[in-house]
Amino acid sequence: RVVEAHGILFVMIRSGEVPDADSYNILMNGYCLAERVDDPLKLFDSMVSKRIKEQEITLVFSLPSTSPKERQNTGEDDVAFKVLFCGICHSDLHSIKNEWGMSWYPMLLGHEIVGIVMEVGNKVTKFKVGDKVGVGCLVGACHSCDNCNKSLENYCPKMIFTYGGLYYDETMTYGGYSDSMVANEHYVVRIPDNLPLDASAPLLKGFVMHQTLTCLIYFTYSNHLRNKVREI
Ligand SMILES: [Zn+2]
Ligand SMILES: [Zn+2]
Repeated sequence: RVVEAHGILFVMIRSGEVPDADSYNILMNGYCLAERVDDPLKLFDSMVSKRIKEQEITLVFSLPSTSPKERQNTGEDDVAFKVLFCGICHSDLHSIKNEWGMSWYPMLLGHEIVGIVMEVGNKVTKFKVGDKVGVGCLVGACHSCDNCNKSLENYCPKMIFTYGGLYYDETMTYGGYSDSMVANEHYVVRIPDNLPLDASAPLLKGFVMHQTLTCLIYFTYSNHLRNKVREI
């Protein structure tokens, strides 16, 4: 069906019509759902060549993505949850376009993530299956430096960003534009039952405001990260 829709777009263009960004968004989303993740980027290029102005959501659809099948297994301290909503932060848009010069692809964005717990590791104490939870900007840190000992993981030189970071096992971290998420319980927050989940996602900034500031401060540490990448 997405190929058929692409054909219709092609006919429109051949007959001299200029499709708008919405048409491209729908098609790109179709390719994403069909797991043909390279096609949206090609469409984006053709859009740019026709000088059709993209929307912010176009950037989300067009980015080279990755399959959530690659999520880590649920470790003993981990919480696995079904992602129901995820906000779009402007830092996601910077990351798509590599405007901070440190994006890795394929990249799976999203750091305002909320959902319902599906599984917990056997050492998890704060959460149980069915709880409403969220994850913000960070998913890890060293847990032994002075900052970590004061619960200021966002100042830890080894903090791990929710996406585009290197996890403890040296695999890349993937964000919340996905149907599932696995995170250490230390980086998971509880969403109160009386708060609607769709409205909660952007609040992940509020719950973890120090982490949000970290969104900025993080980049002062980016050299450290980049050097590590180079070593690998
Ligand atoms: Zn952000
Ligand atoms: Zn630390």
